[in-house]
Amino acid sequence: MSRPTVAIINRQALRDNLALADSLAPASKSIPMVKANAYGHGALEVCKALQNAPAFGVACIEEAVALRSAGIEQPILLLEGTFSADEVAVAADHNFWLMVENEPQKQAILTSTAEKKVTVWLGIDTGMHRLGFQPEDIDQHYQQLRASDKVAETIVLASHFACADDLQSTATPEQIECFDRCVTTDDISADDNVQFSLANSAAILGWPESYRHWHRPGYMIYGNSPFSVAQNNADQLTPVMTFQSAIISLRQINTGESVGYTGNWTAQRSSTIATVTVGYGDGYPRQAPNGTPVLINGVRCPIVGRVSMDMITVDVSELSSVAIGDKAILWGTDLPVNEVADYCDTIGYELLTRMPSRVPRKYIN
Ligand SMILES: *Cc1c(COP(=O)(O)O)cnc(C)c1O
Repeated sequence: MSRPTVAIINRQALRDNLALADSLAPASKSIPMVKANAYGHGALEVCKALQNAPAFGVACIEEAVALRSAGIEQPILLLEGTFSADEVAVAADHNFWLMVENEPQKQAILTSTAEKKVTVWLGIDTGMHRLGFQPEDIDQHYQQLRASDKVAETIVLASHFACADDLQSTATPEQIECFDRCVTTDDISADDNVQFSLANSAAILGWPESYRHWHRPGYMIYGNSPFSVAQNNADQLTPVMTFQSAIISLRQINTGESVGYTGNWTAQRSSTIATVTVGYGDGYPRQAPNGTPVLINGVRCPIVGRVSMDMITVDVSELSSVAIGDKAILWGTDLPVNEVADYCDTIGYELLTRMPSRVPRKYIN
């Protein structure tokens, strides 16, 4: 007794994908990114499944506190640092690592009244121009933090790539070069307690020259490629989520008859239409046009008619056998979320991240 719409989360795939990151860069440590509810997969369950990870990464202190309260013991990196000065003491108390990306964040640490020291990741803007300090000022910020008794012994210097998913782009080598210039000042080079972090998923898979102490894999551990083209390493990933529903109605329509709201699709031949109980209320993209594939009985069948809140309609005329109750896979193994996203003018990251809580997550393996 329950609606058949479910996101099945394969924990073994999660572990295998993280192991791939580790095998590509055995000298580096990978911090799984579990922000935004682990890209829709369920942050707590993902952390539990990856219990050997050295740390986890989230976007804000609320996400970190929720994991800590639920029993996750590793350090948790706050990727945007603090949003207000009072968060520094909470972070120090809970062993949350703080990105420091701007002057107010730095001052909040330097003037903190927290008793415990806090681990700092100093963000450098090497070209993405979203967060981080200017390259020419890094040495000075580093020195201030190094001199502070509020700051833990290891300081990590970090940056983020804007175009690592484009393997032809010169932006990534330029960012790496900029980073290397920042961290080769006399003071920083002489400091044994300085570490570096550059790589996101695309860099781990495609830019070995970016490998440093700490990696920050996100999308890849969920089993999806950050690239829009085939790539040897990315092709070894296994999708973690299978978004699945089932057929709840079947009908035959005649040539010239239309399907769904606004009747935006009209049958060019006598057709078999399957109604599947999943819609935009479940995070299935409403923009999905006619022709977007749905996997039914192993065959890619096209969506016809508009996506409704709770249902979609699919042309299953090509199937030799089909029945009410048959499973329909919206994305997962054999139908990458990237492929669905391409039809919908977005990226798989968005489709996964915005999956609502209405869809039950079922954890296997
Ligand atoms: C989200 C995020 C990542 C992970 O990016 P993916 O493309 O999902 O691997 C890495 N670093 C930072 C700073 C991030 O915000």
